[in-house]
Order: sequence, then structure tokens, then C-alpha cells
Amino acid sequence: MIVLVLTCANKKCHKQFKRKASNQIYCSSECCKVVTSENLKRKYRLEKERKSGTTRICASCPTKLSKYNVDTECLVCVKKYTPEKRQKLKELLWS
Ligand SMILES: [Zn+2]
Ligand SMILES: [Zn+2]
Repeated sequence: MIVLVLTCANKKCHKQFKRKASNQIYCSSECCKVVTSENLKRKYRLEKERKSGTTRICASCPTKLSKYNVDTECLVCVKKYTPEKRQKLKELLWS
């Protein structure tokens, strides 16, 4: 059996760890918790900004985002995503 050594997906940790489960991306459940709660906070903040009409800029290009766009990128950039990237982003956001 090949043991994969990965880098923790928690940007503040970045520890190397040996993967035990195929969907494991954090070195510990602690890191998973930290990132999950930060993602929730970020999502909440984005949602608040969106509703209050703060001007938001696409994360990948200088396009202004519509108030009704729930993504962090404009429709053009989102359309350019490959299914793999989409999946990756989803994992990053919700794992
Ligand atoms: Zn970690
Ligand atoms: Zn864009």
C-alpha cells in the first residue's frame, strides 16, 4: 500500500501528514474544525457584504460582481471553470 504524504489544507498549519482516508485533506480534526468555522464566517461576511450592496470585485478579474451573484467570481470566470476546478473549490469551501 502506498502511503501518501500530503500537506494540511489549513493554510495556517501546512503540516505534512500521512493520509489515512481518501478524502482526508487536513492533518488533524482540529485543523478541519478551524477551517470549517473560518469558511462559515467568511461565507457569512460575504453574504452580508452582498446584501448591503458593497461593491465586490471578481476574484480572478477586475469585473464588478452583481449583487445577485453569490459567487466570489464573475459569471465569465465561473463559466471558464473545468468540472475538476469546480469540485476542488467546493471541497475547499465545504470540507
Ligand atoms: Zn493541520
Ligand atoms: Zn471574473
